[in-house]
Amino acid sequence: MKYVSTRGNAEPVDFVQASLMGLAPDGGLFSPEAFPSIERPSASATYVETATRVLSAFAGNSLPEDAIRGMAQRAYAPFAHQSVAPLIEVGPGRWMMELHHGPTLAFKDVAMRLIAQLYDHILGLRGERMTILCATSGDTGGAAASAFAGSKHVDMVILHPLDRVSPTQRLFMTATGAANIHNLALEGDFDGTQAILKQLLADDQFRRRTHLAAVNSINWTRVAAQSVYFAQAQAQLGRDRPIRFVVPTGNFGDALACYVASRCGLLARFDCVAAVNANDAMARLLSGMPLMKGATAATLSPAMDIQLPSNFERLLFEASGRDGGAVAAAYALLASKGEAPLPKTAATKLGDMGLSAERVSDGETVEEMKRAHAETGWIVCPHTAVGLAAARRTRQADGPIVTLATAHAAKFPETVEKALGVRIGLPDRAAEFTSRKEKFDTGPMSADFVRDRILSLVGA
Ligand SMILES: *Cc1c(COP(=O)(O)O)cnc(C)c1O
Repeated sequence: MKYVSTRGNAEPVDFVQASLMGLAPDGGLFSPEAFPSIERPSASATYVETATRVLSAFAGNSLPEDAIRGMAQRAYAPFAHQSVAPLIEVGPGRWMMELHHGPTLAFKDVAMRLIAQLYDHILGLRGERMTILCATSGDTGGAAASAFAGSKHVDMVILHPLDRVSPTQRLFMTATGAANIHNLALEGDFDGTQAILKQLLADDQFRRRTHLAAVNSINWTRVAAQSVYFAQAQAQLGRDRPIRFVVPTGNFGDALACYVASRCGLLARFDCVAAVNANDAMARLLSGMPLMKGATAATLSPAMDIQLPSNFERLLFEASGRDGGAVAAAYALLASKGEAPLPKTAATKLGDMGLSAERVSDGETVEEMKRAHAETGWIVCPHTAVGLAAARRTRQADGPIVTLATAHAAKFPETVEKALGVRIGLPDRAAEFTSRKEKFDTGPMSADFVRDRILSLVGA
C-alpha cells in the first residue's frame, strides 16, 4: 500500500511515512496509489472493529493489525457514547450521525485521537521525540491538545489568533493541564498563523533541529479515520441500501472521506451533499468554476468559513484521471495569478461523481436551529443546522438521508442563546475544563517570535 502525491512529483511512501510527513515534498497531498477494496462490516460490528478493518487496509504492511486495534481502542475509550458515532432518527428516513461525543465536542476528535495514538506508537518504537505545530481557527487546536496531552513523545505548540476564537474553543486548547501542550495567541488572523506554520516547516534546518511536524486537515490519516463512520452508517442502516450523506463542509475533509469510503466499496453508492455557508467555494467548483483565493466571510458556522477547501485537491486529482501534472499546473497558476481554471477533463467529470453542494445562509441556519428546537427539543450547533437545512432541501432520495452532526451545541453558546434564547452549559464530561487554569502566551504575528519560543520550549 503506497501513497502518491496529487502533484505527481514525489516518491511514493507508505502509510506511516504519509502520516508523519503530512504534506508531500512537492506541495501535493498524499493519496493511495490504488484504493483498497474493503469488505463492508456487519451491522453489529463495533466502531473499534470497523476502524481496525478500515485502517488496516489503508496501512497495508506498514503496521500490524494488533497495533491498529490497540490504537483504536485507546483513541475511542474516552468517547461518551459507546457506539462512538450514534445514529439518531430525526424523521421518516432521516437520520443524524452524532460525531461530537469526544472530549472536545467536535468531530475533529475522531481523527485527531487516532493520529495521536499513531504518533505515540511510531515514536515510541523509534525512541524519538517530535515537536508538533498546529495552527487553528478553533476546533482543531482543542482536539489536538486533548489528543496529545500527556504524550511522552510529543511537544505540541498551538498557534491561535488572539481574541478570534470563541472562549469555549480557547478553553479546550489552553486548559488541558498537560505540561507538553503549549499555546501561543498571536496578534492577527488565522491566515497569519497558517503562514507562520508553513514558513517554519519550510525551514529545513529549523525543522530538523526541532523535529518539527504539523498536524492539519490534509493529513491522510485524518481522511482514513473519518471514512470509518461512513462505513458504520452504511452497515447499520442496511448493507446495500443507497444512502445520501449530507456533510457540513469547510476544508472538505469529511466529504472527501465519504468519497474515499465509497471508492473502497464501503458504501452502496456515492451520494453526498456538501452543505456550505456563505463561503460557497465547493458549490462554485462543482459547477466547473475556477480555483480562486477569495476573502472569507464571517458566519454563524465559523469552522466552515473557508474559501479554498484544501482537500478539494484530492478530488481534483481523481476527477482529472489522476493527472498529477495537470493538478500541479492548476495550483501553480493559482499561486501566481490568484485564479486557475480547472483542468478540462476534471471540470466535466466533477459534475457527475455523485457529489453536489447546497448553500445555507445565516438566516436559514438560525431558522433551522429554531425549528429543530421547537419540533423535537434538540439544540443543534450552527454547523449541524447548516447540514439539516441542506438535507431538508435536497431532492427526493430513494433511501435514508444521513446528516452529520459535526459539533455539540455547547461549543457555540453565544449563537445558541441568540437563536433560541436558551443558555447552554458544557456537558458534565467537559466541565472539568472550567476548573483548570488557562495557560497561554501572547505575542506578535511573527515567525521569529514563534521560532524563539519553540527553541526555548523544546530546548533544542
Ligand atoms: C472542521 C469542522 C467542519 C468542516 O469540516 P471539513 O472536514 O473541514 O469540511 C464542520 N463543522 C465543524 C463543527 C467543524 O469543526
